[in-house]
Formats: sequence, structure tokens, C-alpha cells
Amino acid sequence: GMYVLSTYGAGCMVDTVMQISAGDPVLISVAVNKNNYTNEMIKKNKKFAISILDMDVDANIIKTFGFNSSRDMNKFAKVDTIEVDGIEVIKNCIGYMTCEVVNIIDADTHTLFIGKMVGADKFNYKKQMTYNYYQENKDDILKIELENGKTFYVCTICGYVYKGEELPEDFVCPICFASRELFEKKMK
Ligand code: FE
Repeated sequence: GMYVLSTYGAGCMVDTVMQISAGDPVLISVAVNKNNYTNEMIKKNKKFAISILDMDVDANIIKTFGFNSSRDMNKFAKVDTIEVDGIEVIKNCIGYMTCEVVNIIDADTHTLFIGKMVGADKFNYKKQMTYNYYQENKDDILKIELENGKTFYVCTICGYVYKGEELPEDFVCPICFASRELFEKKMK
């Protein structure tokens, strides 16, 4: 799926959310890149929320949360949000879950946060945006405007678009830090 992960003062896009226990409490895991400011802030706050994006998701939500850092901007000022227990969640989505961190596991480039679900609400009954659907249709979903006949490169991990004839030698994705081999060359 495609989710906005948020905490006090930070938020980002994630695709790695799993329910790992159906018991009481429900446990949710989410993997977050260590370079991500949201990772740092969840460690500090010990709380996070997951907003579940639907098939009609506003491109602005993905662009705001996926292609920027919360170090540089207040992402929550750019989209409609609702405050739940002090954490902003996305308003135009299927719904959210709020979690308290119960375990933090180091996983090389990422941190696996395990949270106990403490709250949830549903806003609509649309179909969930899947990661595959997003990958296959991201040019349309993101409404990326490209000039005909021009070469561009798309990050196969996060969808970031680099406009240009050639990727620089030591290029890494500025958003998800994927290496240049993970970029797909395209032409409109
Ligand atoms: Fe990327």
C-alpha cells in the first residue's frame, strides 16, 4: 500500500506497513529509512500515525510527503489534515491508525518501528492505493509534466523524476537515496 507516516513535526511517505498481530493489542510495524527526519522524530516522540491512501489520492499529498524533507518545510500546512492526539493525519484518505512505539529494531539502512495501535478511524470506503499500481501509473498519478521528446529518469523506488539526458555518475535519489541503477530511463 501507500501510506503517509506522521509524528509530531514530521511526516513522510512509506510503503512498508504491516499488521503483525491480530491480538489485543493490535501491533503494526513500519520500516523507515534512517536518513529520514521522520525516523528521528518517531524515536523522540514514541508515537506515530499511519494514513492509508486511496486510489483517488491527490497528487499533492504524495509530492508533499514523498519529495520533500520535514527538515525544510512544514508539510502539514500544504495538505488538509486533522489533528489526532497531537499528530496530524491526512483528511482525504481511507482512514488512519495511531500507534505508540513498543519496540524499535535496527535493520541496516532502515529502522523497524513496532507500534501498539491506540486509535483508528475511517473516512471513506474507496479502494486502497497499492504500491504496484502507484509504480505502474506514477507519471499519471503525479501529473508529471514533461516535454515531448525529452529524456527523463524515474526512481523505481519512490517515483522521483530527474529531468535530463544523463544521470550524473554518483547520483543518488534525493528523496529515498536509491542508487542510480535503480532509475529507469524514459522518454516522452
Ligand atoms: Fe527515490
